[in-house]
Amino acid sequence: MNPFTLTRITQPSEAFSAAAANGRFIAGGTTVVDLMREGVETPSLLVDINALPLREIRAHSDRLEIGSLARMADVAAHADVARSYPMISQALLLSASAQLRNMASIGGNLLQRTRCTYFRDVTSACNKREPGTGCPARDGENRMHAILGTSAHCVATHPSDLAVALVALDAKVRIIGAGGERTIGLENFYALPAETPHVENTLQPGELIVSVDVPAGPHTAQSTYLKVRDRQSYEFALVSAAVALVVERGAVSAARVAVGGVGTRPWRLHDVEKALVGKTPNRESFVSAAALAIRGAERLAHNAFKLELLPRTIVRALESLVESPGAAA
Ligand code: SF4
Repeated sequence: MNPFTLTRITQPSEAFSAAAANGRFIAGGTTVVDLMREGVETPSLLVDINALPLREIRAHSDRLEIGSLARMADVAAHADVARSYPMISQALLLSASAQLRNMASIGGNLLQRTRCTYFRDVTSACNKREPGTGCPARDGENRMHAILGTSAHCVATHPSDLAVALVALDAKVRIIGAGGERTIGLENFYALPAETPHVENTLQPGELIVSVDVPAGPHTAQSTYLKVRDRQSYEFALVSAAVALVVERGAVSAARVAVGGVGTRPWRLHDVEKALVGKTPNRESFVSAAALAIRGAERLAHNAFKLELLPRTIVRALESLVESPGAAA
């Protein structure tokens, strides 16, 4: 690991001067320390932001507000989150390990970097790590890679389970920077790889995520997160589905569907949602709507199985909602 200086800040306003000195923010450290050990990132200054007052989790009548320094374990165990936003709680509990969930912050989770093995092996070429060097995953080991949102320059999946749930629920991130405060929908916060896979989101140098806001609504309590993976613990998704349904008078009146493990960013499926609304919530309508999920998908040599697994995962998640008590009115 390269030598570095560690400094601590206690006020958000100090973040900007630290950033101006090319500082890299660190909270739980579960992402950045790994990347430094692997030599993927080599910051000379780490700025510890753990003393900033950004750990609150508040359920308001119109939204859930999660401070960016709240720990994954604390959000997952929060009574209001578990009761009124179960897909968030489930996505967190299906992530990482208990030790990592105790350390990792919500902001860090949303900013974690891909687990593409070529990206984390500094002896390999990788357009995301070193622009212009190539993408060995396209013709190499790509079983875990994306089928949606890919480009000739990168096919890496976004690794966060939480981000999939938050995108499904129209979450917004509140960001502060030297120019003031701004808010952006999480779906648009993430960038597609296109020709610049090293640009992963809209965060500018010195900007800091301070909170995540999730709008309240009748669908949030009728939600679930299903994750399909190679082993049942401490593993990233092959495919995951964050779904929410509201059923009134025997028909779907609102639907939310986002998927993970298949997209270069957390992937919202608006067409699937539209296809569900107005339908009787049964296997037939779920299968028909979920078939739209793979429109525009691009398979690679080793990940074609995701074309079948993706719609099946969505159907199973939707079925679990209507089968569970209280899921369908
Ligand atoms: Fe790098 Fe993306 Fe290709 Fe992986 S898929 S090697 S992260 S460019």
